[in-house]
Amino acid sequence: MNDDCIFCKIAEGQIPAKIEYQDEDILVFHDITPQAPLHLLIIPKKHITNANEIREENAGIISKIFTEIPKLAFQFGVNEKGYRIVNNCGKDGGQTVFHLHFHMLAGRHLAWPPG
Ligand code: AMP
Ligand code: ZN
Repeated sequence: MNDDCIFCKIAEGQIPAKIEYQDEDILVFHDITPQAPLHLLIIPKKHITNANEIREENAGIISKIFTEIPKLAFQFGVNEKGYRIVNNCGKDGGQTVFHLHFHMLAGRHLAWPPG
């Protein structure tokens, strides 16, 4: 737990969020400023700052997160129409919360390339 980290506080239950799924390792909740009809955030409960900190030792969490994604896609009925998984890393990547998270965006056509 990083005391200055808003997502650690959500993971600890100290800040409310609309939680969709959690287990001992990961948490899924709705983005507070949704950019699409469905906008979920999928995070490891353990603090990892961003993709720069992924190593062999903690890579299992990435597998867990990506195993959850298709389950969420079916749960929300977006598996056929599709969705986008986004990870913003660092300032140029657009990261604003420095706790590793994957955005799951769906429910509208998403333009490419991103801005
Ligand atoms: P990023 O810009 O990739 O770091 O994404 C951070 C995301 O966290 C943004 O989409 C914010 O809207 C979202 N966010 C920030 N604070 C909260 C919160 N308390 N609950 C839910 N989502 C949040
Ligand atoms: Zn954190």
